[in-house]
Amino acid sequence: MSSSNIHRNNDLTGRNLFRSAELFGRGQRVITGGNARLTIFQRPHPIYFTKGIGVHLVDVDGNTYLDFLNNFTALIHGHGCRPVLDRLHHQLEMGISFSGPTELEVEFAELLCDRVPYFDQVRFVNSGTEAVMYTIKAARALTGRLKIAKLEGAFHGGYDAIEVSLDSAPSNWGPRSVPNAIPYSAGISESLAADTVVLPFNEIGATREILERNRDKLAAVIIDILPQRAGLVPIDPTYLAFLREFTARHGIVLISDEVMSFRLSYRGGISRFGFEADLCAFAKIIGGGLPIGAVGGPSRFMLPFDSTNGKPLVPQAGTFSANPMSMAAGIATMQSLSEQSFQQFEHLGEYARASLNEIFRQNRLPYSVTGMGSMFRIHLRAEAPKGYREAHAAAEQQRKMDMFVRALQDRDVIVSPTCQLCLSTPMSIDHVEEMVTGVREAAQMVEAA
Ligand code: PMP
Repeated sequence: MSSSNIHRNNDLTGRNLFRSAELFGRGQRVITGGNARLTIFQRPHPIYFTKGIGVHLVDVDGNTYLDFLNNFTALIHGHGCRPVLDRLHHQLEMGISFSGPTELEVEFAELLCDRVPYFDQVRFVNSGTEAVMYTIKAARALTGRLKIAKLEGAFHGGYDAIEVSLDSAPSNWGPRSVPNAIPYSAGISESLAADTVVLPFNEIGATREILERNRDKLAAVIIDILPQRAGLVPIDPTYLAFLREFTARHGIVLISDEVMSFRLSYRGGISRFGFEADLCAFAKIIGGGLPIGAVGGPSRFMLPFDSTNGKPLVPQAGTFSANPMSMAAGIATMQSLSEQSFQQFEHLGEYARASLNEIFRQNRLPYSVTGMGSMFRIHLRAEAPKGYREAHAAAEQQRKMDMFVRALQDRDVIVSPTCQLCLSTPMSIDHVEEMVTGVREAAQMVEAA
């Protein structure tokens, strides 16, 4: 397809995206699907970026946008955070990666263990997917059991054991109180999917029954306290208390996937609710924009990774694990995040959610917003969803969402394809107001269409 053809299909209005269209055309010839990340793909083509400055992004055609996605929540300081750049420049001169450890990984591990109350130790990997995978392997090694329980609709990365019940639909999701375990990716065998038990989010009675039935076979219950795909609805503290108590009583490992929700407080996600996980998988913000993942927890749960007395139960290596560039960026990022940064996120996040609700009400728009702290998600439904089933968009609604997201891009605001947004530390009320105006105009346009 020629680039002009691609561009003619583009229903973005009044915006020159010729270079993006051209790059997608070129990409399609040599990259399967045209680009390398499913989550950033949009029809007719994604926008290709060249530069990030603070809260802004510039695309290859010279258009400037407010970045309310921050590489899917990873860039907590937005673009070009000075302490991160300085530390990276220094590290670049010192060496990009070595076949040996560095002081940086010790320093970074100390910082993280100081922050998160229940962390004695951490291990570094390269992505959130890897971090989740290793928590599951460790849980299986520790318990000698195979089954994993997860929340319906929650996304935990691309590891087989957990790629279940991500996009199930009314046709296959089964009863609300006993959701079906539907594999997300082709190639996941039925027996593998059968080792993954799906829990109805925030529903204690039904969850207890499922857990009771499986308790002697369960290695882990993995949770996300603010699951994006399940609507970005916070976990009910009573539900969390129940899961914490049940897992502890039955020797099941409670894993908190904080790849996104680690940005919910100075001490991480589950700590915000006053609870401790047995193992935590985290990533994104701790890499300061570079690839990273980590597993953390009390020493006895981290034991499967220990190689000091011979082959560990769960061997974990990785050419780029704890590479000095990611460590350097991570240290500078986390050092620049104070308790006060999180207080500001709370205020600005509340202000954004309240302002959005207000424009939805004032303009009679059948929209709603969910979220917590620095993260929020807009839903094209009048009543905020309570979980995955309400947040799930049928094909027609997804088309409307696509149109809304593109209309927002037209108004210079970048959000995720599911309309997830997040704040970065350089953002102010002015940026939020700009975004809110963009949302109002985009919604009015979509409703008029
Ligand atoms: N878990 C959660 C909750 C996530 O949001 C993501 C990525 N968005 C992952 C795991 C996978 O992380 P990564 O993309 O770094 O592999």
